[in-house]
Amino acid sequence: MIDSRNWFAEVPETRQRRFLASQRKGVCMEVNGRTLVNFASNDYLGLSTHSDVCMAAQKACSVMVGSGASRLVSGDDPMLHRLEKKLARWKGYEACLITGSGMLANLGLMQALADRHTHLFTDKLNHASLVDGARLSGAKTHRYAHLDTAQLAQQLEQHVAEKRIIVSDGVFSMDGDCANVSLLLQLAEKYDALLIIDDAHGIGTVGESGAGLTSMHKVFGHTRLIEVGTFGKAFGSYGAFILGTNELIEGLRQRQRTMIYSTALPLAMIAAAETALTLVQQGEVLSRLHHNIAYFKAGTSALGFMVSETAIQPLIVGSDTEALTMSATLAKYGFFVAAIRPPTVPENTARLRFTLSASHSMEQIDKVIDCLGNIV
Ligand SMILES: *Cc1c(COP(=O)(O)O)cnc(C)c1O
Repeated sequence: MIDSRNWFAEVPETRQRRFLASQRKGVCMEVNGRTLVNFASNDYLGLSTHSDVCMAAQKACSVMVGSGASRLVSGDDPMLHRLEKKLARWKGYEACLITGSGMLANLGLMQALADRHTHLFTDKLNHASLVDGARLSGAKTHRYAHLDTAQLAQQLEQHVAEKRIIVSDGVFSMDGDCANVSLLLQLAEKYDALLIIDDAHGIGTVGESGAGLTSMHKVFGHTRLIEVGTFGKAFGSYGAFILGTNELIEGLRQRQRTMIYSTALPLAMIAAAETALTLVQQGEVLSRLHHNIAYFKAGTSALGFMVSETAIQPLIVGSDTEALTMSATLAKYGFFVAAIRPPTVPENTARLRFTLSASHSMEQIDKVIDCLGNIV
């Protein structure tokens, strides 16, 4: 007999996802009464606890918390439009659409753009939201090996269709490496396709002004290019945005189901993101992050880390149990470092994934490297 207690197959012990009850306190977190330095957050600039950002959110929700309706019905506050204009200008695009989380943005974007006649060409390590968006759209999907633009070109030669879209993360979330966005755009032009770049981890962290990977490659604003960013990472808030031409964004306003049929973001999140944008543009938190990345890389150069120039610094250890043991040992010394295992990453590539923040002190970085040196 089926009931909800036997519906799911049991997950093997080493594959079980563990949800750790913890309370964040600045760059630290409290777990079971102990304080650990957090090397496993996407709060790259420390803005989720920045006083200006918190104040902006507080002010925005002093008389109203929820937005009350979807943007289509009565939740389309001018504050959303103001931030959309600022983001478009900063990133060098004509227009911008703010939506719920990055997950919702990608599901809705891909469902709106693609149907069963569309062909998608996607990097094998793309974020789950892009994978699921592709499925939801019903499009034919061709996956190319991670960063393998030669294989991508082959697939584009082979699978001819009127509507084709290349889809890639900008900065990849589990490896910290980067798509060659200028080469991807060249391929999009050569083969007459669109290009979606989801730079959730790059916006606010890479490039001189923090404007992300497309800014670094100077390809922003191209009419074939659609870019996705989020507020949940470097911006320290919650929500997401899509950038593109005026016509594209208007088309999404008409069609993007995850925006049309979902409650608009609370204004506290918008106000926080707007203040975060100002802080990113001022550059001080960004240069602290860049300093910390360089400092961490210098200290770990002999420890066998993957090559990454970004705030995501993975150390592949191979087996699931080894990754869990190392993470537990680091926790004993006072550091929280995530053990990332399959299916989040490919088989036999379980890893410790360090993420750096502008808020880490040099002493905290020194200490975690010391501990790591003792256990690898
Ligand atoms: C985190 C992430 C998302 C999801 O964003 P949320 O706002 O957390 O839902 C989407 N794409 C990429 C590449 C991400 O890293």
